[in-house]
Amino acid sequence: MTGFPITLAAPREHHGPLPDAVDVTVIGGGIIGLMAAWALARESQRVLLCEKGRMAGEQSGRNWGWVRQQGRDLAELPMMIDALRLWRDLPPGLRQAAGFRQTGITYLARTEAQLAAYQRWLDGARPHGVDTVLLSRRQTETMLPNAAGWIGALHTPSDGQAEPLAAVPALARAAAADGVTIREGCAVRGLHLSAGQVAGVETEAGPVRCTRVILAAGAWSALFLRAHGLSLPQLAVTSSVSVTGPLPELLPGAAADDRFAIRRRGDGGYTLTPWSRHEFHIGPAAFRHLLPFLPQFLADPASTRFRMAAPKGFPDAWRTPRRWRLSSATPFETCRILDPQPDRRALDGIRRCFADAFPDIGLPPIGRTWAGMIDVTPDSLPVIDHAPIPGLIVATGMSGHGFGIGPGVAGPLADLAMGRAPRHDLSAFRWGRFGRFRQRPSTAI
Ligand SMILES: Cc1cc2nc3c(=O)[nH]c(=O)nc-3n(C[C@H](O)[C@H](O)[C@H](O)COP(=O)(O)OP(=O)(O)OC[C@H]3O[C@@H](n4cnc5c(N)ncnc54)[C@H](O)[C@@H]3O)c2cc1C
Repeated sequence: MTGFPITLAAPREHHGPLPDAVDVTVIGGGIIGLMAAWALARESQRVLLCEKGRMAGEQSGRNWGWVRQQGRDLAELPMMIDALRLWRDLPPGLRQAAGFRQTGITYLARTEAQLAAYQRWLDGARPHGVDTVLLSRRQTETMLPNAAGWIGALHTPSDGQAEPLAAVPALARAAAADGVTIREGCAVRGLHLSAGQVAGVETEAGPVRCTRVILAAGAWSALFLRAHGLSLPQLAVTSSVSVTGPLPELLPGAAADDRFAIRRRGDGGYTLTPWSRHEFHIGPAAFRHLLPFLPQFLADPASTRFRMAAPKGFPDAWRTPRRWRLSSATPFETCRILDPQPDRRALDGIRRCFADAFPDIGLPPIGRTWAGMIDVTPDSLPVIDHAPIPGLIVATGMSGHGFGIGPGVAGPLADLAMGRAPRHDLSAFRWGRFGRFRQRPSTAI
């Protein structure tokens, strides 16, 4: 166990008997599944959301809490702009409980090449109406007077942050009050099909009839799909997080350079993390999907530390079953909450970088540390589409930036589940888009 506070020791907040039948079952109690379930309940759909562990026990509780338009792939911007509006328009009590505030996000450049990349992104994003600006060295020094080493910055004042540990549980309570049936400790083992179409799900607590399923299972989605004969090139990397004790205010929002990222939390401490350092455990899926992922690994080989095998029970561990019977326990019940070990070396390293950048503060005191497994696709964009099984919709592969956009993905998912034309162009997120070697070039920075 790591220092992550949501554990199985916590009593289940959402429990009770299962309905016999619903309109839509959502698999996964992260931000994506939850917001989709809530959107559908608001359209008078009967919705069941099943979470194998605890709400926000995986990525949606472990992330940095950034809610950003800045630096995103341009294909995601329309959904992200919706998401920001939805976060902002939460009822005041709920917005406060989720810790949402628009305090701005800043990328700090140490080289001219980084500034040029910021400018390129800004040129592409401006037609979407973002309020992002490029800051000069002097403006950057004014923003961060006691810091060292940055020659300019990209800054989006309307970007925001929320407290991941609080946000999803608070939103889940609101969704349950609006009619979503949420069940924690309730893994979905597989789909029931009738004439090739979704006819229901088998959960560990029994079957539930439904004709539509939204799979939002984060790092587990590819394993779930594979058991139904569907191949999705999705892998997972481990990313580590540390939490400092209270520190003086350096800047109100969140910021990062090419070494570390910080966000001032509501409690006065900072979430301090490596900007782009991951561990990757090599398992069978890594071999199966090597070719589509190769360009991504080769583009930035220094950011990934390769490990030989994932811990027992993890989605792509060598001994994790790939097929199972619906009548007995599945891998989803063996590992209720993915809780990887943080990379202490990386966390120690960025603590020193932080001290170099903010010499008045020096080495920050560290409280908790944890890690999360980020589900990634070959082009770092999610899949938001119908799957080849009629009735099954997939919303996964958020690739390290699904928390902020979560509320904005819910509308298009509801459109798909209701059989309507989606409100945004989802072609960049379609199922089956991945080429063998070459992917669509990313416009994210
Ligand atoms: C360290 C870290 C930092 C990040 N920082 C940011 C950030 O600052 N901003 C941002 O926007 N994004 C960030 N992300 C990414 C973001 O957290 C994810 O993209 C997002 O939370 C994904 O949400 P999700 O609902 O798809 O998946 P998850 O939150 O992982 O939820 C999936 C859920 O499905 C459940 N599940 C799986 N299989 C089954 C099954 N068969 N039955 C029932 N339940 C099942 C799992 O238990 C899990 O709870 C970060 C991620 C990490 C790990």
